Amino acid sequence: MDKIIGIDIGGTKIAIGRADINGNLEESVRFPTNVSRGYKVIVEEIIERTAELIKGQSVRAIGIGCGGPLDSKRGRILSPPNLPGWDDVPLVEDIKSVFKVPVYLENDANAAALGEFHFGAGKDVSNMVYMTLSTGIGGGIILNNKLIHGVRDSGGEVGHQTILPDGPLCNCGNRGCLEALSSGTGIAKIFREKLASGRSSIVSQWVNRPEEISAKIIADAAKMGDSLAKEVWDSAIYYLGIGVANIVTIVSPEMVVLGGSLTKYGDELFIKVREIVRKRARLVPTDEIKIVPAKLGDDVGILGAVAVGLLGDDR
Ligand SMILES: [Zn+2]
Repeated sequence: MDKIIGIDIGGTKIAIGRADINGNLEESVRFPTNVSRGYKVIVEEIIERTAELIKGQSVRAIGIGCGGPLDSKRGRILSPPNLPGWDDVPLVEDIKSVFKVPVYLENDANAAALGEFHFGAGKDVSNMVYMTLSTGIGGGIILNNKLIHGVRDSGGEVGHQTILPDGPLCNCGNRGCLEALSSGTGIAKIFREKLASGRSSIVSQWVNRPEEISAKIIADAAKMGDSLAKEVWDSAIYYLGIGVANIVTIVSPEMVVLGGSLTKYGDELFIKVREIVRKRARLVPTDEIKIVPAKLGDDVGILGAVAVGLLGDDR
């Protein structure tokens, strides 16, 4: 019983992998979710692909990471916006009844946090905060080796702390969330609005339509010295720094791990965030708190789910 299956379910793709107990990924598959097929058909494909990975192997448990809201204790998915029709569906029971091994469920950002904690950057610490910066901003908080689940699995939503009380509207309905200011989607939206209000930028020459403007393009233009891109990018990183400083002030973790596509645009992000944290988290010995890049890269989804399966109820 030395293998773990990790299933990472997203709105656009699903990834399933088999790993040993040290998080070495042995085999994996990825396929489009194709949400319009509906819950039943998608779960059938998940079961089919999982069976192929389990064949001839001795599997101890299955871990699942999935977009929330969900109920990890009851193993049910509760109508996530990116999985239409998954309304109070018994995902854990549906998979457990086929494979007869323990199956555990966790929200995807919390699963990724457990992955980095167990197999990645946080391997040697007991208190860690993980943040993923991509189209949105998610995260997970681990204290004394345990994930903070909060009431109905709503803990650790680091992207939805208010940074600017009257700031831009967030997908969650609040104004001025960190996610609305510093996520890839938020940065691109703020930039497009400034362009529409008459500001000029080299980016206008790089794209045919404003919808093509991404955080990556803005980061590239900022590096070249484009003043609008630099203004928007720098303020996004400034707000990110404040968000991280708030978390550091409250939690004082040994380590903050930052992952996701936005962290790939250069070390400068880490240098600036560390500087802001030093300046703003005044009651915390910030030189003892490491702010570091994630280590698991594109495998964080699968390995996060593997960590959920491996740790089981002990997470
Ligand atoms: Zn929000």
